[in-house]
Amino acid sequence: MTDARCAIPGCSRPTAFSAGKGLARHHCRYHVQHKARHGSHWHGTYLAADLKPYISAAADWLRAHHQDPLVAAAWSDLQYVLASAGRIDPATNLRGQPAKYRARVAFARLREAGISPDRLMAIYIGVSALIEDDYGSHRTEEFRTVQAAKAAHRLASGTHRRWEMWNPLGPSVPVELHAYPRCQATPGTDPLGDMKN
Ligand SMILES: [Zn+2]
Repeated sequence: MTDARCAIPGCSRPTAFSAGKGLARHHCRYHVQHKARHGSHWHGTYLAADLKPYISAAADWLRAHHQDPLVAAAWSDLQYVLASAGRIDPATNLRGQPAKYRARVAFARLREAGISPDRLMAIYIGVSALIEDDYGSHRTEEFRTVQAAKAAHRLASGTHRRWEMWNPLGPSVPVELHAYPRCQATPGTDPLGDMKN
């Protein structure tokens, strides 16, 4: 195993394991990190512009089917998840926290950013449809989940955010964030940036 090479075609780097830089026995460190960021060893993150028509078609479909029992059930489950995600302390460092806790914080942030269950459902359906249409893409659950989460995260990290910070000693403290997305961008790069943590 000591000279094993990465399984991605065209990549001749040693596997992370054989390089002594990880446990991955089939992929190099670069491609392992690529998968962590994009949900795929080799497929990149979709651009917001590619997703947009799919998400708006999905939103139209959802509007036309909002009385469908399955749609209604998914909507109310998602509404419950958002409503019960608890308060978020923006100062919390998520690094090292268990996945379940991080997921709860992610949903709480979406709620605080005013993202509706309808929008989240449209994103998930839109991403799934784009993946189906994207010849050469792949249909693993992880890729779909990561791509949908990144699209949702972009919405929640818009230009201006406002939320209430929980204060154990008194009323909640309003917090505002005015961050400018990395969109004044170099052509060819993802205009809305990557999800980083
Ligand atoms: Zn590689």
